[in-house]
Amino acid sequence: MSLSDRILLVVDDVGMPTVYADGTGAPIPLAAYERVLRLAESRDLTIPMGVPAAYLSPEGERFGVVVNARGAEVVALLRDNSRRLPVWNHGLNHRFLTWRTEFLDYATGRAPAADEQERHLRLSQEILAELGLGRPRVFIPPGHGWQPDTTDRLARRVGLEAICLRAWEKTPVAHWLRRPSRRYWRRWELSRHLASLPRLGLGLPAAQTAIGRTSALKSRLFIHRPAPARWLIQRTFSHSWRPHHFFAHIQNFSSSRCLAFWERTLDELEEFFARLPGGPGEPSVAGGGGDR
Ligand SMILES: [Zn+2]
Repeated sequence: MSLSDRILLVVDDVGMPTVYADGTGAPIPLAAYERVLRLAESRDLTIPMGVPAAYLSPEGERFGVVVNARGAEVVALLRDNSRRLPVWNHGLNHRFLTWRTEFLDYATGRAPAADEQERHLRLSQEILAELGLGRPRVFIPPGHGWQPDTTDRLARRVGLEAICLRAWEKTPVAHWLRRPSRRYWRRWELSRHLASLPRLGLGLPAAQTAIGRTSALKSRLFIHRPAPARWLIQRTFSHSWRPHHFFAHIQNFSSSRCLAFWERTLDELEEFFARLPGGPGEPSVAGGGGDR
């Protein structure tokens, strides 16, 4: 499977009208998309865009989201630049089960019934195809929550071939301290039904629009993960998956001042992947080597 030989970064939540999935918070400007495109073009990169489909559908309200009033412009930009910014499936409505997950609630371990999951997967693929955005081959579970052997098996049925996943999912430290009873920590396995594309974060919260010096330092730490920081970031000292890409959110491109940060971060990511055997863009397999 050849997705691209130049994928360093994938951008999630593409098409949401505002920084929060429930339609609240600051609007995400169209300029955020233009910045991603400019970065991809200037560096000859492919930057896949994870789209929760309903926000861009004129009928999205039926699926419980606040429709993006500028959705047609977002769709046109994605359609005109499908080689640089290919669309990946990021679910139907992103927050079906919790404030951030559609296919698994971390706190309870509950997942929707299989037929409901299949309906969401099928509808999201259909909406994206109707918008002229093609039928994605890659699935990014909203909030990285999915039900192994169910969500991935159903995703395969609707034409998806790969899944983006994290090795772990944890309560952010700040939330953990505020509400220790709501703590969760989950380790994921590779999918048995889809190609697995392990991903790493940059330490930027999804809703973060301005990126200052502290965030820049933090993201460097997240890219290179020296041993002492590794436990805090991933709550374990090692895991053996070779990352396929890093991820961020379209919200993180909102500010006109963020370009310098992204230029530097993409430099760092180029270096990071240059040091990994095999180079960027190859789907990972279990135990793919490297203490990363
Ligand atoms: Zn998301």
